Amino acid sequence: MGKSQLMSICIISTGDELLRGAISDTNAAWMAARLNDRGYVVERITIVGDDLSKIADTLAESFGIYDYIVVSGGLGPTDDDLTAQAAALATGRPIRRNALAAQQIESAFKRIGRPMVEVNLKQADLPDSCSILQNQHGTAPGFSLDTPKGQAFFLPGVPRELKHMFETYVLAGLPSKTASTHRETFRCFGRGESDVQAELKPIAADHPTVRWSFRASFPELSVMITAPNAPEREAVSRKIRSALGPIIFSTKDISLPAAFGERLAAKNLTVGTGESCTGGLIGHAITETAGSSAYFRGSVVAYHNDVKTGLLNVSAQTLARAGAVSEAVVREMAIGVQRALNADVGIAVSGVAGPGGGTPEKPVGLVHFAVAHPAGIDHKQRIFSGFDRSRVKHISAWTAIYLAYRAISEGFNKC
Ligand code: ATP
Ligand code: MG
Repeated sequence: MGKSQLMSICIISTGDELLRGAISDTNAAWMAARLNDRGYVVERITIVGDDLSKIADTLAESFGIYDYIVVSGGLGPTDDDLTAQAAALATGRPIRRNALAAQQIESAFKRIGRPMVEVNLKQADLPDSCSILQNQHGTAPGFSLDTPKGQAFFLPGVPRELKHMFETYVLAGLPSKTASTHRETFRCFGRGESDVQAELKPIAADHPTVRWSFRASFPELSVMITAPNAPEREAVSRKIRSALGPIIFSTKDISLPAAFGERLAAKNLTVGTGESCTGGLIGHAITETAGSSAYFRGSVVAYHNDVKTGLLNVSAQTLARAGAVSEAVVREMAIGVQRALNADVGIAVSGVAGPGGGTPEKPVGLVHFAVAHPAGIDHKQRIFSGFDRSRVKHISAWTAIYLAYRAISEGFNKC
């Protein structure tokens, strides 16, 4: 099929369980993501119940529109497994017992050491002149059919079986796309999705052939571009970098804590955290990355003032004068944790996570951040309004890591 750039793909998932909400359609999501990795875009995902005429109508309609159709589920031997019959109806072919499929079912039962009963052979009753797709992890073979526009693949619903067959028969058969090399992803932190979209709008207008996708995964944001050729991608990439600047922390598929970890490791630096309102979340986020023991010294969850003074050497006078949520205290915490944990970089956070505890001077969502590092100490203050407690903690952890990430990116190395 020499039309790889324009190929249209549709996924159809079958099953009443999906419509009842008893299970989620993870098969379609997984296949769409695998196709996306390969540079293909799925145009439509449809869920249809275990109803013969509805499945047949959905198939018949899709056959006239899409080049590639992948159908999941309904290949088993029970009465609610109707996909083969529906495919026969939709294509006007008779159902016949397929000898190859019958043989594969028999050997699948031999393989698992279970006796085969006659009803299992129902799985070999398939539309005439289809191609059989072997199922190495289950008993129901899949099949494929030529359609007026391309091909339709029918795979079992059991995720393990489907995944293997999808890789073997669907992905492997797709023409390889060079378009995937003309993609770039910008991982960002620090600005909202609509703000970033507005900033990039003029660039998008200048490059109508570039496809954009925005994905917010709180509190991070990804901007992905797919360009028709390399020069176009490079031109757009340059413009994005200059428009968004430092909020881009990586163009790899990694989170901010992982990007921070990479930066620490590259500079041979270690980090320790003194956490009040984040309650250890920064340490948790950093240690989500395998190999973080190379740079993570530890966390002191200094929630109570006694812990701030006792373990992080924050002065009682500073606490009494400025209060726990203050610039003065986080600066002392950052230096204190840097020393206490013998870390090159000390990160400190103190804030009012809410919902109670706010005052007019120190409202809910007010958070102070400090990063002590070999070249000095940086401080920032933010007010996260409109977030619940757990989001304030989450965005605070990321803001602290981002501040530290910026601090070490701006040019010093461990001597
Ligand atoms: P079987 O031979 O087991 O009957 P089948 O091809 O007929 O397989 P279904 O009966 O539709 O497939 O689904 C089998 C099981 O696979 C379901 O009970 C469900 O747990 C899982 N499943 C089906 N469809 C999906 C889906 N779209 N996403 C995730 N899981 C699914
Ligand atoms: Mg079934």
